[in-house]
Amino acid sequence: MSTSTSTDTLKTARIAVLGYGSQGRAHALNLRDSGLDVVVGLRKGGPSWQRAQAEGFAVAEPAEAVRGADLVAVLTPDMVQPALYKDAIEPNIKPGAALLFAHGFNVHFKQIDPRKDIDVILVAPKGPGALVRSEYERGRGVPCIWAVHQDVSGQAEAHTKSYADGIGGGRAMIIETDFKEETETDLFGEQAVLCGGASELVIKGFETLVEAGYQPEIAYYEVMHELKLIVDLFYEGGLTRMLEFVSETAQYGDYVSGPRIVDAGTKQRMREVLDDIQDGTFARNWTAEYKAGLPNYKRLKQADLDHPIEQVGAKLRARMPWLQSVPVPVAAAVTPPLKKAG
Ligand code: NAD
Ligand code: MG
Repeated sequence: MSTSTSTDTLKTARIAVLGYGSQGRAHALNLRDSGLDVVVGLRKGGPSWQRAQAEGFAVAEPAEAVRGADLVAVLTPDMVQPALYKDAIEPNIKPGAALLFAHGFNVHFKQIDPRKDIDVILVAPKGPGALVRSEYERGRGVPCIWAVHQDVSGQAEAHTKSYADGIGGGRAMIIETDFKEETETDLFGEQAVLCGGASELVIKGFETLVEAGYQPEIAYYEVMHELKLIVDLFYEGGLTRMLEFVSETAQYGDYVSGPRIVDAGTKQRMREVLDDIQDGTFARNWTAEYKAGLPNYKRLKQADLDHPIEQVGAKLRARMPWLQSVPVPVAAAVTPPLKKAG
């Protein structure tokens, strides 16, 4: 782990940022404000094209942006990257240039097999794009993890660190990792704890209370709404801060009942989820699901959206006006939602 703030090795480089969504927009703006030369690569007529142009960028079709770039940052949704690589990057990227990812999925699981004459690197900010931008604007930065997968220029590490500095990460902290660690821990986190684990915990807690005859409105507040208070305390100061701010009764209940809910069996199943990630089962299933047009994904998503907790939640949230003005989704650094090709 280190801190630094030098973009020197990219001073004369042309950087192509492909995608202008959560990460792409933040990276492009921060790199430009760091004095670097940025072109944004997008499909003509896509939803981000006008925005990038209005924000002062040179915008080109991906193939065009890649041609002549010294560093190509691939910041489109993960599932569109293999085709984008084949069509726009592989035929056009300069020998010796760097191909940069913010998530290692496609390289690690061999959905993209990068040409052998380019550097392949990773910089993943530990936060959503909106935070990467807002922290940069305040003169600070979001910590980043970085990795080098392939180094043909002899400059791969220097370029990776310069890029991390350029988006503000060097002002905070950068931590070295590798594509395997970044990819597998990212998937595990979102499946076992953040998205999968947390939402199932909430749903099962809600069902338990409602089936026992309690009002859904009361159950919603107890297991969904108030979760934010606890998560905020975790975020600000870990278990220590949470324990400082909840009552002694809540603490005692935590100590004696928490391990009855999430127990050694749960941990064993977490291990199984991790095994599926590590041996490629998850990646294989997910890629096949995507190619099949997302039939299970759509069905499972609809089931979540139709759950009674969503009916009661919508009704209650409409009575909490402060929730209507939340400016940016507080989406954590998890794999982004699949969007219609944008
Ligand atoms: P996003 O969905 O917010 O934005 C995607 C952008 O790509 C949009 O501008 C869209 O118009 C464009 N796009 C879509 N298809 C395209 C195509 N075929 N050609 C060119 N442009 C296309 O994506 P995101 O959340 O910023 O994720 C980008 C990368 O960053 C992913 O690898 C993701 O895993 C990684 N990442 C995201 C976060 C996060 O918080 N969202 C955090 C860390 C890493
Ligand atoms: Mg993540």
